[in-house]
Amino acid sequence: MPDVFPRSVMFPEYINQIFYLVGEVVVLSAVAVLILSIIVTLLIIYSFKTGNFFAARYMLLGIVLLENVIIALFWIFRADDSIVNDVGVRLRNYINNKKFLMIPYKDRSIFMPQCVRSTECPAKLTPEGIKCINCGRCGVGEAKKRAEEMGYRFFIVPGSSFNKRMIKKYRPRAIVGVGCHMEIKEGLDLCHSHGIPARGVLLSKAGCVATELDWDLFYKSIEEK
Ligand code: SF4
Repeated sequence: MPDVFPRSVMFPEYINQIFYLVGEVVVLSAVAVLILSIIVTLLIIYSFKTGNFFAARYMLLGIVLLENVIIALFWIFRADDSIVNDVGVRLRNYINNKKFLMIPYKDRSIFMPQCVRSTECPAKLTPEGIKCINCGRCGVGEAKKRAEEMGYRFFIVPGSSFNKRMIKKYRPRAIVGVGCHMEIKEGLDLCHSHGIPARGVLLSKAGCVATELDWDLFYKSIEEK
């Protein structure tokens, strides 16, 4: 049978060399990504266990860029990958902390998710969010009262575009946001893009309704000066 693809026509030597180089670059890049991901994973575990952060800004950059590989590593070793998100939020809070604490209460805003309300909440939706009437059915009423007495502006968030609208309208100089991992991550990125130091407080039980918040942790987060 005749040679359909003669070697001299299909693969001149310089093409072979290019393929070889590309292959080498791909393999070396994959090894570099894997090594960096392992280093960041070890730093995440260290931070989770000790509460300390080493090279915080580089670590956050590593989490943002290598998140999928890091989560895959947690999955391979059957470890709880929610640790990655948890440390990611704490790391962002840590990085923002100094600037956040410089802002007085009166220039800070709180964004509380509506899912933390009682399922029998009688509050009405308004253009400024859901207006709590402090009916006593959930902890939001008391939190709003205490926060507003301190000087905070307090919002109960009805939907995703609400935060952007209120930031544009009131221009808070610092923000405390409550939510699940995804909401906090998006909220902190939004604040970062507006140059606003922010602090995220994770829900202790996430979901769409009847979520739970560690209120002591929340008060500690908003009262810190
Ligand atoms: S305290 Fe406020 S948020 Fe909670 S159920 Fe009553 S009105 Fe709704």
